[in-house]
Amino acid sequence: MNLPVHRIIPFSNVEGIGNRTSIFVQGCNSNCLYCHNSETIPMTSKDSKLYSIEELLDVIKNQMPFIRGITISGGEPTLYHEFLIELFKEVHKLGLTCYIDANGFFDYESLLPLIDETDKFLFDIKGLGQSLNDLCFSDSLGNINHLAKNASNRFGVEDEHLKNLELLLKRKKIEEVRFVYLKNFYDTSKVIDEIYNLLRQYPDVLFKVIRMHTRGLPKERLKLLKGSFPSTSDFDEIKSYIEAKGFKTLKFIE
Ligand code: SF4
Repeated sequence: MNLPVHRIIPFSNVEGIGNRTSIFVQGCNSNCLYCHNSETIPMTSKDSKLYSIEELLDVIKNQMPFIRGITISGGEPTLYHEFLIELFKEVHKLGLTCYIDANGFFDYESLLPLIDETDKFLFDIKGLGQSLNDLCFSDSLGNINHLAKNASNRFGVEDEHLKNLELLLKRKKIEEVRFVYLKNFYDTSKVIDEIYNLLRQYPDVLFKVIRMHTRGLPKERLKLLKGSFPSTSDFDEIKSYIEAKGFKTLKFIE
């Protein structure tokens, strides 16, 4: 069993609590227009490399004195749930924690064995209802990802996305919820209200709001997102709305 890995960052302090080794998988079931890792979306790439569990453990052990755990990001880690269960079992034996940065588009029941083995999830919220189709499963980018359409058919309704978050919250498996703010794709206050309704009972869960920026985005994505990049004053406005809601643990990334 092997895992397609696009890159490994030995030390990261933005992928969950503490210093962590971040492993970015190749392949995603979404196709977010604003994706800053769009090179990780195709299921295969000449820039990715297959790793066995033993090879990844060697990388992780090299960082052992300096890290608190590992975070699997991507791409979408949950596509590789069977591999990750086995990897996490081994990593736990080293006394390290295992996190997943997930997009929320997965079948909860099939993932239960992985959920049990995962310490915490960092969970992305990407909008609601039709905005998911427009933003995450848009085919305006062509056939970059053949899984996008299937995912859209399965998860293109708001309930699935938020239901998975709710179930993970109940199991105390969420460390942070991330929301990339951009304009023109959704009713922002409605999205914020939905997130607040879920997080209000979990004051320790961090709500991280990120202003979408243009840096590193490929030209074709920039074109499709024209007019959607929030200015600092747009962001200030949404910050005020969020602050007034009463989220207990909150962080804004400009
Ligand atoms: S979920 Fe979206 S933002 Fe994350 S890697 Fe996939 S396409 Fe990119």
